[in-house]
Amino acid sequence: MEELLTQLKLARIREVYRDWINKASKEEISYADFLHGLLSEEICAREENQIQRRMRQASFPFEKTIEQFDFSLRPELKKQVILNCMDEAFIHQGRSLVLIGPPGLGKTHLAVAIGVKMIQLGYTVKFIMAQRLVNEYLQQEEMEESQKLLRSLAKIDLLIVDEFGYLPHDKEAGPLFYQVISDRYEQKGTIITSNKSLTAWAEILHDSSLAAALIDRLMHHGEVFYLSGDSYRLRGKQKYLSGNAISEEFQLEMVDDGENRGEKEVKL
Ligand code: ADP
Ligand code: MG
Repeated sequence: MEELLTQLKLARIREVYRDWINKASKEEISYADFLHGLLSEEICAREENQIQRRMRQASFPFEKTIEQFDFSLRPELKKQVILNCMDEAFIHQGRSLVLIGPPGLGKTHLAVAIGVKMIQLGYTVKFIMAQRLVNEYLQQEEMEESQKLLRSLAKIDLLIVDEFGYLPHDKEAGPLFYQVISDRYEQKGTIITSNKSLTAWAEILHDSSLAAALIDRLMHHGEVFYLSGDSYRLRGKQKYLSGNAISEEFQLEMVDDGENRGEKEVKL
């Protein structure tokens, strides 16, 4: 029996069939229920293995869920909009989400939470730091290899590009991101986190028209949130912080909003 199950690659059934035989003789389970039960266990185990494999392939920096995110700390974030991003439509409609703000506000947490959910829904996810993406691309010596990397990125259902803010001053970085975003446009889901506002992206990519074209595609079916406030990591430690801990750029974003100080949602 063991050998047959090994040959058929029914690993989970091999583990549990003895228990099932015992149970079936005690509880008088019908043949149909017995077979159904065993096969269901095999399927569940395979699904679980696939989720584990996809979690590893996603290479998240940590595992966080949306339930662990305290939305009351980020009133500028509309919870429902984030929850909408956790739906299959986010991928099928090729939508995107851009989270912008200084460190510690939960941008990566939210991106990971959406990623984890998508894996549970059966999709493939890749989490990569922007700088790492550029480096990996530049490491490919042959044109064919670079194309292969781009093709594999284009196939991923949800791509999370984290910390899009500091890129190596390389002339290929701009065209690379433009290509990645164009490939995903209306095809796959994309999340970008950044510590730089959209207006600074031209500088990051060292090319204003390229940045405009990229933002145009990204935002056609996308949303951008500017997060502000105190770093979650530093809560309770404010006394150690001086006023300039928040970059000038974000202080500028936070002025002139009247009641909605720092709570700017820009929809382009
Ligand atoms: P960012 O990417 O904006 O720098 P992170 O997502 O890495 O911030 O968040 C830093 C840490 O604080 C993480 O451990 C994250 O889980 C936690 N965190 C941030 N914001 C929240 C929040 N609103 N609720 C719960 N945990 C949070
Ligand atoms: Mg982060």
